[in-house]
Amino acid sequence: MNKYDSIIIGAGAAGLMCAYTIAGHNKKVALLDHSHKLAEKIRISGGGRCNFTNLYTKPECYISENPHFCISALSRYTPQHFCELLNKYNIPYHEKTLGQLFCNNKSEDIINLLDFLCTSKHVKRSMGVTVNNVEQTSSGFRLSTTAGDFYAETLIIATGGLSIPQIGATGFGYNIARQFGIPVIPPKPALVPLTLESDILSMFATMAGTSFFSSVSVNNINFQENSLLTHRGLSGPAILQISSYWNSGDSITIDMLPHTRLDSNELHKDRLHSSNLHSNKLLSNFLREFFSERLSASICQMLQINKSLNQLSKKEISKISNFIHSLIIKPSGTLGYKKAEVTKGGVNTQLLSSKTMAAKNIEGLFFIGEVVDVTGWLGGYNLQWAWASAYAAGNSI
Ligand SMILES: Cc1cc2nc3c(=O)[nH]c(=O)nc-3n(C[C@H](O)[C@H](O)[C@H](O)COP(=O)(O)OP(=O)(O)OC[C@H]3O[C@@H](n4cnc5c(N)ncnc54)[C@H](O)[C@@H]3O)c2cc1C
Repeated sequence: MNKYDSIIIGAGAAGLMCAYTIAGHNKKVALLDHSHKLAEKIRISGGGRCNFTNLYTKPECYISENPHFCISALSRYTPQHFCELLNKYNIPYHEKTLGQLFCNNKSEDIINLLDFLCTSKHVKRSMGVTVNNVEQTSSGFRLSTTAGDFYAETLIIATGGLSIPQIGATGFGYNIARQFGIPVIPPKPALVPLTLESDILSMFATMAGTSFFSSVSVNNINFQENSLLTHRGLSGPAILQISSYWNSGDSITIDMLPHTRLDSNELHKDRLHSSNLHSNKLLSNFLREFFSERLSASICQMLQINKSLNQLSKKEISKISNFIHSLIIKPSGTLGYKKAEVTKGGVNTQLLSSKTMAAKNIEGLFFIGEVVDVTGWLGGYNLQWAWASAYAAGNSI
């Protein structure tokens, strides 16, 4: 009979880490996944090199209806803990930028390590298994699956969010939560490119493919990273970050040159002092001091201004300055779950223990990883949450 101490549904980042942690306490563990491929999301993460954590992880980098929920787990399993694990097994990695740690080789290094650790602790991993039904019994849970019935005292749901359905994401975890009376905060694509209406898109057509350092704001939240204009809308790290805070109907404000004020200092100076060496400089040439040639030309084309600086009127100067420093754009939507790196919302933390991830109303039921209403910023925070929440649950079982 398929009888285990613990069954984990979802062999992704959180599921593998949790299986290894529980099995380390001499428990009999089964790990079930409907996909035939192991941890596909780790594989594609970080552009194939897995940005597996962030050295500056702190609770403020997570979005949740209950911002305090993540504190306990994150403080007990830190980025340094995961680094120690990689160091122990000689997996090379490096810091790219802003505390983001990436594998030197490929994401497979991490998948192979977690798989090896689970195998060494005799975790029974079954891929390609669909769970049709879950019911609570007097001694735990019974799962009806395409590989027969499974029984366990504890059941851990690690099925992630809805992002990238093409590699097996489902709403299974949310359905289990609802089945057991645990509310779900409506899921929403996050860390996702924003789309623009066709008239705005055609206005920005000449800028498509250009990227620039920016400060992007919405709802009093601000990120300073690169933005990218695409043929479908807006992308790049700053846009992905802000998308997690964007609600339908909101306008976002982009400062394309956050560290230099063009109005008072540069443009006025050049305009007012005609003896200035730069006074005859064309606006497009002047903008090339700050932007790429293509972007400078596009800005002039969009503003329909390209004359020498000393010929600019005050009105034109403020038009240029407003465009560069306070570009207000109303996105029409997002590219949705097909392109979203994560899913915001999820299992409501009100009915979960922040220490153990256990459901408060159902003994032996746990939720870990992205399925929970804890969503990290871009930059390794989501995998750190997967490790930390999995460790919290695994150690408590
Ligand atoms: C393109 C992309 C790049 C990313 N890059 C990064 C990055 O560099 N750094 C970072 O921190 N985060 C990154 N993320 C986010 C990160 O990958 C996820 O937050 C993390 O993998 C979540 O871990 P999880 O274990 O909760 O869920 P997942 O890793 O998604 O695992 C869930 C598992 O459950 C299985 N499953 C789903 N439904 C069922 C079902 N009904 N029955 C059985 N099994 C089921 C799935 O097959 C999957 O194996 C990225 C995400 C994407 C999409």
